[in-house]
Amino acid sequence: VIASFTLGSLLLATLLILITYGLGRSTLMRQRQDSSRDQFFANALQIQEQLRGEGPDFASLLLSLPRVAGSESIVRLRSSPHRPPDWNSPSVDSRTIPAIFIGSVLEAADARRMRFSNADGEPQLAFGLRLQPSTASELQEVAYFEIIPLKEINDTLRSLAIILLLAAVLTVLLGAGLGVWAGGRLLQPLGEIGAAARSISKGHWDTRVDGVDDPDLNGIVRSFNEMAASMQERIARDARFASDVSHELRSPLMTIRASVEVMQHRRDELSERSRQALQLLSDDIDRFEQMVQDLLDISRSDSGSMESIPLNIVDLVVNTVSDFGEDGITVAVDPAATDSIVLGDKRRLHQVVANLLTNASKYAQGATSVKVEDHGDCVRVVVEDAGPGVSPSERTLVFERFTRGAAARRRGSGDGTGLGLALVDEHVRRHGGSSWVNARPDGESGAHFVVELPKAGRR
Ligand code: ADP
Repeated sequence: VIASFTLGSLLLATLLILITYGLGRSTLMRQRQDSSRDQFFANALQIQEQLRGEGPDFASLLLSLPRVAGSESIVRLRSSPHRPPDWNSPSVDSRTIPAIFIGSVLEAADARRMRFSNADGEPQLAFGLRLQPSTASELQEVAYFEIIPLKEINDTLRSLAIILLLAAVLTVLLGAGLGVWAGGRLLQPLGEIGAAARSISKGHWDTRVDGVDDPDLNGIVRSFNEMAASMQERIARDARFASDVSHELRSPLMTIRASVEVMQHRRDELSERSRQALQLLSDDIDRFEQMVQDLLDISRSDSGSMESIPLNIVDLVVNTVSDFGEDGITVAVDPAATDSIVLGDKRRLHQVVANLLTNASKYAQGATSVKVEDHGDCVRVVVEDAGPGVSPSERTLVFERFTRGAAARRRGSGDGTGLGLALVDEHVRRHGGSSWVNARPDGESGAHFVVELPKAGRR
């Protein structure tokens, strides 16, 4: 906005300067030319009159002629073609008139005009006319010249150019100022809308933009708020549906689970084939229950309110690892990250770390290292294992819902729902962070999961 206002005013100012200067210059020149020409003809007439008389006295006549704007008069006389011409002038040197102009005047029947620069480089305007000497006189050739200096006009034009240039600079500055003002007015609500959109994309569905005074912009703000409200409503409806379905599935599942357990107690009475079938059923029920639980978690994550309290991330990771109950893992803490505070929801962050630890024990023999690293505005929680790792082509896919990777297929479809990492990603994203998986930086086989969270106050 600022650039376009500045550019616009620059273009406009340049155009105005060119037009004003061009018009001013041509008007001034024309005026000077017109007034000089009138004077020139009046003076030429007087000289012509003098020529009719006997023994014309050019010297005193030239002195008595009126002068317009510093004009100089010269009479060129020649009595015979073999003698050099006489120049009569009170002040001007005949050499100032260009020879080419003298030639053209002598050849022409009417008056001639020419612009030239004198020895000092100053612009001059010259008029010339061949006169008729009386037959009685011995004069063969008479010509009258007038030279009008244009320096004064040039000075005026220069002053005009300076004034115009100053006016242009002022106009451009004014344009830029207007741009800053209009840009600020226009961009401030747009900036607020942008911030609101970012906040919504982080999962703060209830973010809205305050109204502004401008009726044009108020329409945009209102539409944005309506869009955010309908999106929030829709997300809540979808999440409610998923949560209702999961709830509804829970009681029949419990019944099936109880029946299977009864049958498990009577395993010995069953045939081998029935025992196998019972085992398959029992495994699938485990998976089913896990899936229902994960679905409930995801629907809560989508719709549920999120706490935003200051948490010491190192404490949280250490507690989760010790709750997980796996021996031999110590949390390595970057000294700079020791007191890192993250604004967030304890339960969700706990689940994030727990899911990574669960996967490490599912797909490898447990995590080999858990680290908390400082990265300026962010802290990273890194969980590494010595399992098969995640191949590059699967590294983004595994964070999607119901997506299971090669490591899971290798283990068979017995456990896992493909929702664990999706939950990790969604929780982390609602904290304004991001999560990803890489190969281990030390080159060993294994997965290197990273969760990056913004520190409090830096969001
Ligand atoms: P699930 O474990 O139920 O399949 P997740 O969303 O937790 O679902 O994981 C998705 C996929 O990512 C897994 O199926 C597996 O292929 C891959 N994966 C997750 N953690 C690891 C790990 N530590 N090592 C190797 N592969 C992993």
